[in-house]
Amino acid sequence: MDISSLKAWEMREKLLKKEISAVEILESHLNRIDSVEKDINAFITIDRDNALKASKEVDEKLARGESLGVLAGLPIGLKDNIMTKDLRTTCASKMLENFIPPFDATVVRNIRREDGIILGKTNLDEFAMGGSTETSYFGNTRNPRNLDVVPGGSSGGSAAGVAANELAISLGSDTGGSVRQPASYCGIVGIKPTYGMVSRYGVMPMSNSLDQVGQFGRDVKDAYLMLKGVSGFDPLDGTSSKKSGINFDLEGGSLKGLRIALPVEYRDLKVTGDEKIREMFDNTLKVFEREGAIIDYVSLPHLKYALETYYIISTAEVSTNLSRLDGIRYGYRTENYETLDELYTMSRTEAFGEEAKRRIMMGTYALSAGYQDEHYKKALKVRTLIKNDYDKTFKDYDVILSLTSPILPFPFDSIINSPVDMYKADLYTVPVNLAGLCAMSMPMGEIDGLPVGMQLTGNRFQESKIIRAGYAFEKVVK
Ligand code: GLN
Repeated sequence: MDISSLKAWEMREKLLKKEISAVEILESHLNRIDSVEKDINAFITIDRDNALKASKEVDEKLARGESLGVLAGLPIGLKDNIMTKDLRTTCASKMLENFIPPFDATVVRNIRREDGIILGKTNLDEFAMGGSTETSYFGNTRNPRNLDVVPGGSSGGSAAGVAANELAISLGSDTGGSVRQPASYCGIVGIKPTYGMVSRYGVMPMSNSLDQVGQFGRDVKDAYLMLKGVSGFDPLDGTSSKKSGINFDLEGGSLKGLRIALPVEYRDLKVTGDEKIREMFDNTLKVFEREGAIIDYVSLPHLKYALETYYIISTAEVSTNLSRLDGIRYGYRTENYETLDELYTMSRTEAFGEEAKRRIMMGTYALSAGYQDEHYKKALKVRTLIKNDYDKTFKDYDVILSLTSPILPFPFDSIINSPVDMYKADLYTVPVNLAGLCAMSMPMGEIDGLPVGMQLTGNRFQESKIIRAGYAFEKVVK
């Protein structure tokens, strides 16, 4: 039996029944890494020794008859913008190439508490900005389903590692789709929880008002387990909610009577690049209908401004967040300077990639005196209108259904040089972050051998509705 090809929840069950050991689980993943990682490049850093030590400890606990946590013995990947004490955390940037954090993020502590095994740090777009993992300083990650196309991004390494069975489950961060979109491209499940559901303490911020730590799994139950293991109130994060924490029965859902809303704006905008994707979505709707779901078109009139709103607010926050990387306090420092100004300028010029610089410039512009009212403040107002549209919709519906991405996973170098086209692919995912909602991407089928995902969006702290619905759907199509 190749343990690494099991679902994470199956591995855990077998471990608890003592049919397999945590060390065996780890070894099967390490073997898998040895055979495929040279092609995939899911990792920036692999922490074999500590993973082995942690796995042995889990086996010892089990032998002593102690009870084990929900992530027991599962090899887990962390996007490399999640701080790990004494383990390099790079954000896939030359700026932090050698940065060793002095502390663990809360999610890391939660994983350890639940007996999960941290196997390594995964590749991403530099500082989580991008949709293909092509802006990483550490090279491209390839899509395990087809090595010629991108795995999506920005959490491409975490998605590819799970899809390639190098990891059982993993964490990413989702500011505008960076968990859901790579999940869709790699044919796995990705959850973006409600804002405030999972602690962001120790996660390098991209845009503080939009970021959430998200979860990957090879099926809905696996992603749910990952979420259960890391969610919960954290006094160290000022935006963590007392309502956070997952506690519901996965089996309790059904598609019968599920009230599904479809935004007419998505239908009318004709945004879908690929007609085959549209066709697949229509067929999926038929499955929901057949199972007794109630489906209606509804209007969310401000959705059409979501992309512009997102790219103003997110870049504004990026420009302030990245200002802390100045060559003085930590990170890269240039050798080419004489004055203090040159030290700042040259360190940032030499260490930030092109996309990071583009976002810093856009955000600085949006926040600058004279333009702030016209851009940033207006975007904040539109954000409220988008949120209101959702609030209204969720009075009558349980779930909003859409595609995750309007396009199929694309070949390397095909979009990266036209940034606006890359941004446009975020159409379905960014509004969820603007409104602080929860959403999940799960596989809907394949076109020309490439995975296609759909997105279930739920109201704030209504994870149970989308995850249970997804779980029920998965059973129907199996
Ligand atoms: N693709 C989006 C962007 O580039 C999403 C990023 C994210 O969610 N971290 O901003």
